[in-house]
Amino acid sequence: MVQAVVGANWGDEGKGKVTDLLAEQSDVVVRFQGGANAGHTIINDFGRFSLHLLPSGVFHQNVVNLIGPGVALNIDALMRELESLEAAGVPEPQLKISDRCQVLLPLHVDQDRLEEERLGHKSFGSTRSGIAPFYADKYAKIGLQVCELYDEDMLRERLGLLLDRKNCLMEYLYHQEPLKAEDMLEMLLKQAERIRPMVCDTTRFLHEMDRAGRTILLEGQLGTLRDPDHGIYPYTTSSSPLAGFGCVGAGIPPTSLKKIYAVTKAYSSAVGAGPFVSEIFGEAAEELRRRGGDRGEYGATTGRPRSVGWFDAVATRYGVMVQGATEVVLTNLDVLGYLDEIPVCVAYETEDGKRLEDFPATPVLMHCKPILETLPGWKSDIRGLKRYEDLPENCRRYVEYVESVCQVPVHMVSNGPKRSEMIYR
Ligand code: GDP
Repeated sequence: MVQAVVGANWGDEGKGKVTDLLAEQSDVVVRFQGGANAGHTIINDFGRFSLHLLPSGVFHQNVVNLIGPGVALNIDALMRELESLEAAGVPEPQLKISDRCQVLLPLHVDQDRLEEERLGHKSFGSTRSGIAPFYADKYAKIGLQVCELYDEDMLRERLGLLLDRKNCLMEYLYHQEPLKAEDMLEMLLKQAERIRPMVCDTTRFLHEMDRAGRTILLEGQLGTLRDPDHGIYPYTTSSSPLAGFGCVGAGIPPTSLKKIYAVTKAYSSAVGAGPFVSEIFGEAAEELRRRGGDRGEYGATTGRPRSVGWFDAVATRYGVMVQGATEVVLTNLDVLGYLDEIPVCVAYETEDGKRLEDFPATPVLMHCKPILETLPGWKSDIRGLKRYEDLPENCRRYVEYVESVCQVPVHMVSNGPKRSEMIYR
C-alpha cells in the first residue's frame, strides 16, 4: 500500500512530524521531488533535526529510506546531513539512492544566487540552493544522472555539453570566470564513490515492495501552492509537490497510491515572494510569528522569518482538492490558544468587488483582498491533551470548521511540535 504526506498550502505545514509518525508504521519512506531547499523539522528522542534531503524515516532502523529519480541530489549536502545524524547518535539509516536521480552541482547553486542578485528587488525569494537552474537543466536534457557518474567517458562528454551552455551564461550574463570541466570531473568522480554503496535501481525495488504488500510512504516537500502548474506561478518551486507527481518522482504505479494526507496549519505561513491574501502585518503578525511552530515561524533551511496570516479557506480548499487528499491533518492548533476571537479568511474579494470562493490564477490573485469572519477562541493551552473530546468546545468547532471547508475528513489534529502531541479523532 502506498500513501503520501503532502502540503496543502505554501509548505512548512508540519509535514515532517506527520511523516515521522507514519514512518514508524512504514517499510519504505521516499522523497520524490525537490532537494535541500526546504526543511522538515522533526523532534524525537534523539533531538531536534531539520531534514532537507534525507527522508523522514531515517530515525527508524527498520525503514528503508529512498531518494527517488525526481529529487535534486546535492551530494555534499546529503553527506553533511548523514554526518549530523551520526553526530547526534542516530544509528546509521538504511538509504537507497536512485541511479536515475540527477545531481545538483555547485554551479546550480551559483547560478541561483547570481540570478537572484541580477533580478534585485524583482527576485523570486529563492532559497538559493540551485533548485530552479537544476530542474531547468534536467528538462533541457543537459543534467547529469547519478548512473552517468560511473561511466567516465560518458560523464566527460555530458559535462562538455553542460558547460558549453553554462559558460555562455557565466561569462556574458553574470560576468564570471568560465567553469573548467576537468575540475568538475574530479569532484564528481570523488562524490560518486562516496554514494556508490547506496545507488541502485530504486524503481524495481519499490515495485517489488509494493507487490509484496509493504507500506510505502511518499514524503512531499513544500505544498500545492508551490506547484509549477497548479500553484502561484511564477512564485512556485521547480518540481511538483503534488501526490500525483509522487508516483512519477518515486517510480510507482499511480493505481498503488491509496491514501493521501494533506497537511495544513491552523493559520497560514509562507516563505518567499508572491501574493499571500490572508497575510497579516504589524504587532498581530509579530505575535503569531513568535508563537508559531516550535521556535517561532522562521524557515527551517534559511532561518528567514516566515510571513504569517490567518487560516485561508480558499487556498486550503484548493490545495486539498488538487492534492486529491483522502484526509487532512491539522497542525499547530495549540498556537491559536491566545486569541479571544480567531479570524479566518472565508473568501476573496477581487479588484472589481466580486466575491471569490475558488482559488484564482496569479493575475487575479495578486489583487485579491481577504474576506474575514471570526470564530470564537478557546483561550487555553491545549498542549498535553490526548483525546478529542477533551479539547475545549470552541477548539473542536474550529477543527470542524476546517473540515467543512476542506470537504475531507480531519482525523489527526496536532497540538504541539513533539511526535507524541497528536490527537486522533
Ligand atoms: P514541514 O516542512 O511541512 O515539515 O514543516 P516545518 O517543519 O518546516 O514547519 C513546521 C513547524 O511547526 C516546525 O517548527 C514544527 O516543529 C512545528 N510544529 C509541527 N506541528 C506542530 C504543532 O502541532 N504545534 C506547534 N506548536 N508546532 C508544530
